[in-house]
Amino acid sequence: MSRVYNFSAGPSALPEAVLAQARDELIEWRDSGMSVMEMSHRGKFFSVIAEELESDLRSLMAIPGNYKVLFLQGGATAQFSMIPQNLLRDKTKACYVNTGAWSEKAIKDARNYCGVTVSASSEEAKYTTIPDYAGWQIDAEAAYLHYTSNETIHGVEFSDVPDSKGLTLVSDMSSNILSRPVDVSRFGLIYAGTQKNMGPAGVTVVIVRDDLIGYAPKTTPEVFNYAVQAKNGSMLNTPATYNWYLVGLVLKWLKAQGGVAAIEQRNIAKSKRLYDAIDRSGLYHNPVDLPFRSRMNVPFILNDESLDKAFLAAAEANGLYELKGHRSVGGMRASIYNAMPEAGVAALCEFMAEFERTH
Ligand SMILES: *Cc1c(COP(=O)(O)O)cnc(C)c1O
Repeated sequence: MSRVYNFSAGPSALPEAVLAQARDELIEWRDSGMSVMEMSHRGKFFSVIAEELESDLRSLMAIPGNYKVLFLQGGATAQFSMIPQNLLRDKTKACYVNTGAWSEKAIKDARNYCGVTVSASSEEAKYTTIPDYAGWQIDAEAAYLHYTSNETIHGVEFSDVPDSKGLTLVSDMSSNILSRPVDVSRFGLIYAGTQKNMGPAGVTVVIVRDDLIGYAPKTTPEVFNYAVQAKNGSMLNTPATYNWYLVGLVLKWLKAQGGVAAIEQRNIAKSKRLYDAIDRSGLYHNPVDLPFRSRMNVPFILNDESLDKAFLAAAEANGLYELKGHRSVGGMRASIYNAMPEAGVAALCEFMAEFERTH
């Protein structure tokens, strides 16, 4: 077996220990006599998996008791519509901060449901920065303020929680959830697809404060209604059972690593090592303003674009995969989520230096 270092932005590398455990339990889970894939989602075995999943996430993120935790389908993309449907209540406006490609998509869908005030935008700066909080246009009549805590494509990350000036704060944390501690009580709603930092694709975590739900209009389909899903333990319809199980294994792995505060230290060290290598070099550069550089997704552009193909081919020959940047940004992107070992980042930095030396 020869597993490579996989820098994919998502679906992305999983801890090898998680894959090994899933392999060992594939045919029979604990003493159930069956595979997790074969279990009734309402049976006694799966209910243990579901309970452990929720309680592990609650303890890892210190989620207060007045928040519901939902495990839904449709990806973060479904939330772009579900959030306005559920959280507008009697209001007709919402505020969105535009810091990159994922913010743009959230804004586009929200416009189908309400008036959108773009409170701040870094579009003119080609999404390489985050506008100073002091200049944000916050409409006191809006139902909530939405922002994307880490822009997966542009490699831009908020280093703290912005001041929403009293508005309910909503955040798309798809690509940096569980990578650093967050104070959940600052938020009305946090959501994340699992395929970046929590497991395989197919589950979307929604953490929502109790008092915000129950106000969706009657036209909202029941599966898209947070209150209905909360009442049914996210099992209004058949959930993605095997994916819940795999996310649960990733959470147990993260606990064994020392939890979110411990993994944050490793994420700081890994990203610093890679940015230092980029900044030291004469061949690569990263366009993002220093305070907003993402610890999770690190884009880097080769000063000579004609070397891109050779770089990718040589990287693969060295066991470093999925480094091609998103087409909208160009160049390269290394996604270094929780599951990327320090040795993977070290191998990438070494390869980059060697490629520069020989080109
Ligand atoms: C990947 C991603 C999404 C979209 O996730 P899907 O599962 O494809 O719907 C949304 N927001 C962010 C920040 C992402 O990284």
